[in-house]
Amino acid sequence: MTGTATPAPRLIDIDGLPALFEALRGRGYTVVGPTVRDGAIVVAELASAAELPFGWGVETEAGRYRLRERSDTAAFGHSAGPQSWKTVLHPARAKLWSADRVTGSAGTSIVETGAAEPPRYALLGVRPCDVRAIGILDQVLTGGRHADPVYRGRRDGAFVIAVECTEPGATCFCTSMGGGPGADSGFDLALTELTDGGDHRFVVRTGTAAGAGVLADVPSRAADEATVRHAATAVAEAAGHMGRTMPTQGLPRLLADSRESPHWDDVASRCLTCGNCTMVCPTCFCTTTEDVTDLTGDHAERWRVWDSCFALDFSYLHGGSVRTSGQSRYRQWITHKLGTWHDQFGSSGCVGCGRCIAWCPAGIDITQEVSTLASMLEQAAADEDKP
Ligand code: SF4
Ligand code: SF4
Repeated sequence: MTGTATPAPRLIDIDGLPALFEALRGRGYTVVGPTVRDGAIVVAELASAAELPFGWGVETEAGRYRLRERSDTAAFGHSAGPQSWKTVLHPARAKLWSADRVTGSAGTSIVETGAAEPPRYALLGVRPCDVRAIGILDQVLTGGRHADPVYRGRRDGAFVIAVECTEPGATCFCTSMGGGPGADSGFDLALTELTDGGDHRFVVRTGTAAGAGVLADVPSRAADEATVRHAATAVAEAAGHMGRTMPTQGLPRLLADSRESPHWDDVASRCLTCGNCTMVCPTCFCTTTEDVTDLTGDHAERWRVWDSCFALDFSYLHGGSVRTSGQSRYRQWITHKLGTWHDQFGSSGCVGCGRCIAWCPAGIDITQEVSTLASMLEQAAADEDKP
């Protein structure tokens, strides 16, 4: 068997980040990464490395997200924020086409224009859970017979720079969902940030030839064995510090068997059906279309916008909505996410990023709800066995 040897890891000093930006921008990429804005670490276009959130971390809990100052200058020392890379690859609003009525000597005609050509994005700072989420979106939006053209246009040209986790957040549970804080595939470059001893540096691994090409333009040196081991240990230890755990066995069966559970009423008594959980989720992909015209009626546009299974209109068929109650909508969301997603796309729809927990205004915790459902089923089975 023949194969290509994996390039040995390299080290980039913190001073090398501007060169990384330059190498990406020189190749025509629009760099998108984390930055502090409006009291959160958001995903936005970055003009330079200086815009990264140096020295900022976050505190998360159910229904809670706060910035906190770190004791070091880490640029990627934060867990998942309110946005995921879905906002870049599968944007909340995308114009599908526009049309103008043009009146000339030959009479009146309609001239249509398509969507604009998307930029080529370099996604900087993608957490391993989000690398997996992008893989899930790939399957959903391009894995079938009809690839989504907006997603494909953005995804095909994208350059992915993963950053491994060494400090999971209080709402993280990626290890429960079969992932982990380390990146093993799906990236062009993978960084592990180290700040110990005041020495700010990154261990860099290449995943593709494109990654190797970019890295060649960034000042780097061979990573010594001790540093590579130190980085690997930090990532391995992070796997043991997840803030949450999800029951892992048989979730599709659990959700199917919980179809008539009285627990849905309890969730509905807390759930505001606001849809925040679906907006922040890196794999929720549902959309609707909106047509708009200007006041003259000469210009029309069709937009695709994110939709949510928590919206009453989402299940509207002729004559009314199918899921009119809060309990039916929460049940639909969690059952699809953790259960029927397996039948539809061959995996879970959850990567354990914890966003839906932190950004739920009611503090509803997907891991807690599943644990409760599991306990109730166990109790019901035990009651049945009683003589
Ligand atoms: S679970 Fe929370 S975030 Fe989701 S719809 Fe209900 S209240 Fe909103
Ligand atoms: S369901 Fe929640 S924890 Fe799972 S991927 Fe979506 S936002 Fe993250």
